[in-house]
Order: sequence, then C-alpha cells, then structure tokens
Amino acid sequence: MFSRILIANRGEIALRIIRAARVMGVESVCVYSKADADGPWLQHADETVCIGEPPAAESYLRSDRIISAAEVTGAEAIHPGYGFLAENANFAEACLDSGFAFIGPSPKAMALLGDKVSCKNLARKAGTPIFPGTEDAIEEIDEALEMAQLIGYPVIVKAAAGGGGRGMRIARNDDELRAGVESAQQEAEAAFGDGRVYVEKFLEHARHFEIQCIGDDHGNAVHLFERDCTTQRRHQKLIEEAPAPNVDPEKRDEVARTAAALIREANYSGAATVEFLMDGDQNFFMLEVNTRVQVEHPVSELISGVDIVGEQIRVAAGEPLSIKQEDISVNGHAIECRINAEDPDRGFMPQAGLIETWCPPGGLGVRLDSHATAGYRIPPNYDSMIGKLIVHGPDRETAIARMRVALDEFKVGPIKTTIPLHRRLMDHPSFNTADFDIHYVERWLEEAEASG
Ligand code: ADP
Repeated sequence: MFSRILIANRGEIALRIIRAARVMGVESVCVYSKADADGPWLQHADETVCIGEPPAAESYLRSDRIISAAEVTGAEAIHPGYGFLAENANFAEACLDSGFAFIGPSPKAMALLGDKVSCKNLARKAGTPIFPGTEDAIEEIDEALEMAQLIGYPVIVKAAAGGGGRGMRIARNDDELRAGVESAQQEAEAAFGDGRVYVEKFLEHARHFEIQCIGDDHGNAVHLFERDCTTQRRHQKLIEEAPAPNVDPEKRDEVARTAAALIREANYSGAATVEFLMDGDQNFFMLEVNTRVQVEHPVSELISGVDIVGEQIRVAAGEPLSIKQEDISVNGHAIECRINAEDPDRGFMPQAGLIETWCPPGGLGVRLDSHATAGYRIPPNYDSMIGKLIVHGPDRETAIARMRVALDEFKVGPIKTTIPLHRRLMDHPSFNTADFDIHYVERWLEEAEASG
C-alpha cells in the first residue's frame, strides 16, 4: 500500500479522499490554488502545496505543477477526484511517466471508454445494451440519412470525443439531420480537435439509470448495483438514489451484469460508471462510461457497504478488490441531494461569498459530505456545489422522510442554496411515485414560474 498520495482536486471530494486514505493509514498531500488558501479541507491534509492562481487553467489543470508537487512531497500516487483532470488520458499518462501511480484506469482503458464510438463498439461485444445507430463515425451524409430511415426520427448526432453536452444535435427530419451533422462536426472539431460524429436514436422521455462498477488489475470487475439520477435540471443532476425505484429486479440485475462485463472487457482498473437511459418499457440504452469516481458515489456506498474511494486506492496500489460480487447485496435505500450555492429564484445564479450560518443536520442514517463551515468564504472560481446530503433508510419511504427532516434542520445563510428546492422536491408527487423523466424538474419550475 502507498504511504502517501497526492490529491489533485479541491472541496468536498478532496476531503472525501483524505478521509478514505486516512482510514487506510495513508497520508494525503493536497494541492490548492490561491483562491483556496483558506479551504477548510486543507487542515485535514498531511501536507499542502500551492500550485497557482485562482483560475483552474492556472492551478488545478496544470499537470506539470501537480506532478512537481507530488515529487517534492514524496507522494507515490495521484488521485484526480472528479472534474478537472480526472478524465484526461494525457494527465494519467504523465503521472505514470513521472513514476507515480494514477488512482484511476490506465490511459489506454480511459481513452477506449472515453471515445463514444469505441466505447459503443466495446459495449456491443460485452452485450451491454446500446442505442441503435451508426457503428462508426459518419463519413458521408448518406450514411446518417440511411440510418435515420432505418431507426426512425428523432435521432441525435453526437461527437465521438463529446463531453459536457457539446457536439450534440437532435434531428427530426432529413433537413435537420443534414444541418445537424455539419454543425455538430464543426462544433466537435473546435471543442475537441476531433470532428467525428455518429447518429443514434433519440429517446424523448427517459429516466437516467447508471451502474457503479469497480475493476482491478487481476481481471476482476464487480458492480455495486444501480443509481437513479432522473431528477436533473438542464442535464445537471440534482438528486441521486439507489436502488432505482420501480424497476423490475431481473432487468436491473441483467444490465448491471453487462456493465461489469464491459469494464472487464476494457481491462479496467478503478471505479467506473456506466450510464444508461431507460424508456417507459424498461429498455436500457448506454449513454457513456465515466472513468472516475462520481459525485453521487455515496448512495452506492450506503446501500452496498463498500468504500468506493478506498477500493480505488487499493486497486491503484496493485492489490485485488477486497470484495467479490457474490458478497455484495443491496441494503435499504439511499438518497443524495446536491447542495449547491445557487439561487433557484434567480435562474440558479451561483452564490460566492461568506457563509455566516452553517447548521448541518444529523441523526440516524444521515451523512453530510461537505468541506463548508461557518466562516468559509466560497470563492467565485469553481463549481457551486458546497456539499452533498445523503440519507439511508430501510426503504425509500423512510429515506425520503429522513431527507425531509435533514433538509429542515439544515440551515445555511446568508448565501442562497438549493436546500429549499430539495425540500419541495421531497414533496413532489412525481418524485414520490418515481413516475418521472429527466425533464420533469424543468417542466415543474416553468409551471411554477408561469403561475407566479
Ligand atoms: P456528454 O458526454 O456530452 O455529457 P452524454 O452522452 O452523456 O454526453 O449525453 C448528455 C445528455 O444528453 C444525456 O444525459 C441525455 O440527457 C442526452 N442524450 C444523449 N444521448 C441521448 C439519446 N440517444 N436520447 C436521448 N437523450 C440523449
């Protein structure tokens, strides 16, 4: 096992990694930007190194400075967290080239699964359900038009190198498809330096369903069941839960098994999430594979009892997974609310500034993963998420009841947060019956606005 790791991230995930490492007797080095000099998580690190100015491009995205920090502090491995450099295969390669373990997959597996075309082809082999569509990047527009004839409109044009929703176009007829392919190619070329696009069926009403997987370097890959992340706004997840409500257990198990098979097929070591959309008839279609730990990993930890970040560190050190598929079972129900410093009444405008009041909730089944405290000043430079409130209970009803109480107890001010929004969502009929799709929050907010 490592004696020291470096964390190339900030905020709640930096703290989550420090905690997992400490439990394993591993020391942590945290790099930070000048905007984060007072970051409360840094107090828990064994050593800290300032790596630059507030803009991420001058600090958290500077792989050269991160690697230098690992060299001077004697770290043996680098954990990228999520966001920033977490899914950058060049960064993973640079860590390995400089003699550090990368706490994540090999650059090869990352690139294979990060490219949507090669990922879909691998999924086909592993039996993971995918959207019908073109097998390779489109060379002639006729290939796109023929595929649309075959699968029917609407279709979506997507960039092979896509990410962050860029290079995607929905088309409902031939004219839109011709225009969509051209503009998606241009956008993908500009954003990723890779203009390859493909076409697949577009699903209008869907739920977001994803499988948490972990693999090691010894050929093992397990899944920790699914998460439902249907409660989103503009493709940003707000609430995640596990297990997914109202889904046939046999179908869930089958998808989970194929997701683990995909990870195994990629010789994948580390944590990965295979994301799917699910239609009204419980058909699943793979969206993409995220090759990092995800924001919502705690709900899977609570229902499975597995320390996902701990397993990441373990497998990066070359050890086998500490768990076997047959030993893992679902225990109860967990729900996570992302607490963002945003003002829902003003278009979700990010709120920077001083937190004066911070009264966190507690009690049976309540977990708060947050770096915030009273007196913490939220810098304007980064993501607005200041914490994650996660509850666990024997069933979904109890978990929702515990979440309502926890949200009522949770007082933050004067900055605005998404806490009141989550409290209202806990009473939303569609959330309560889990009869929802990924656009229900947007429709609800629009209706609320229209009725004043
Ligand atoms: P990115 O990597 O850019 O985030 P994804 O493949 O994850 O791209 O897609 C982003 C979002 O776009 C998904 O969460 C989903 O809401 C929507 N989307 C993508 N593909 C489809 C599809 N075939 N049908 C319906 N919605 C889709």
